[in-house]
Amino acid sequence: MAKKLVAIPGPTPVARSIQDQMGRETVAFGDPDFVKDYKELLDDMKEMWDATGEVFVIAGTGTMAMEMAIANTLKGGDNVLIVSHGFFGNRFIEICERRGINVEVLQAEWGEIVPVEDIEKKLSEKHFHAITVTHVDTSTGVAAPIAEIGQMMKKFPDTIYIVDGVCATAGEEEKVNAMNIDILLTGSQKAFGVCPGLAILWANEKALERRKSLGTIADYYIDFEKWIPIMNDPSKYFATPAVNLIWALKESINIIKEEGLENRYKRHIKYGRAAQAALEALGFKLLAKKDHRAVTLSNALYMDGIDDVEFRRILAEEGAVVAGGLGPYAGKMFRFGHMGNIDEHFLVSVVSAIERTLVRCNIDIELGKGVGTLLEKLR
Ligand SMILES: *Cc1c(COP(=O)(O)O)cnc(C)c1O
Repeated sequence: MAKKLVAIPGPTPVARSIQDQMGRETVAFGDPDFVKDYKELLDDMKEMWDATGEVFVIAGTGTMAMEMAIANTLKGGDNVLIVSHGFFGNRFIEICERRGINVEVLQAEWGEIVPVEDIEKKLSEKHFHAITVTHVDTSTGVAAPIAEIGQMMKKFPDTIYIVDGVCATAGEEEKVNAMNIDILLTGSQKAFGVCPGLAILWANEKALERRKSLGTIADYYIDFEKWIPIMNDPSKYFATPAVNLIWALKESINIIKEEGLENRYKRHIKYGRAAQAALEALGFKLLAKKDHRAVTLSNALYMDGIDDVEFRRILAEEGAVVAGGLGPYAGKMFRFGHMGNIDEHFLVSVVSAIERTLVRCNIDIELGKGVGTLLEKLR
């Protein structure tokens, strides 16, 4: 049977050397070698993402990191502005409403962005204790202008700027201090190319101060205050660290260091734009408008005559698994993740599997047009 390439927006392909870390014999969490590895990982994470304050790396998923950001900065009755570019932006609405936080939403049409001026105007109307912005909303393939928003946020020093980087961090450029971000959060299974299971969250001094001002919070496992002593000294115990996943993330960081983080961002741009050109050459339209299109994934709208379930079933037979559309685009689109530790073989194979699938779906294409365009752009 053909190997199935995982071309969904997370989990992404896990490199052999990262898998090997998952297969290591698990040691005691107090093992001095493990403690040293964990500490080094945390130091690297801060330095490489231009962050001060704290970084938290704990067992959980991206959604838990979203909840952690909210639980540690807002209480019932506070105001939050949610800038939503799709399904994952909207996820913050329910997380906040369940906590009795007053929610206002700036909703972009799917495929578009909320203009920075609109965010500024809204923030000027009344005091918001925090805003949330999804860097890359996986449902639309839109990348928000998080650096520009961060500059604008300097006019609102009492508002915590929370960025959901789950489908972006380690693939799209993010610099916590330089971009004036107060909290950046992500999960291990997207552009880090690690197995699912770790939540990662950077919080600067301003965010940590806000947490302190809340006193005792109802949340326990995701409380910054519970984890700060452990992040500063991982030999201490609060809740058991995911030993093998910590090693796996450390190996991902080794891979990133070897490549160079800036080179990794450049590679993602090159791969992303090449994949997008290939899809367009095959006749797909992309949901995200060109000037704010993510490089970590592509959201391709089906041409007439394609049935979503059938297309993805045949594509899987041809050796590539992509994700379906979400919300209003369920059944109308597929999502092709091209982030993390992938290479040109991966891209060529997935695009060629898409071509074979189109032929089997009786769509009239010129065979090789997608792969040819891809190779041209990768050159
Ligand atoms: C995947 C994703 C999430 C959710 O992460 P989980 O690890 O599935 O909980 C949140 N936000 C964005 C932008 C995502 O792409």
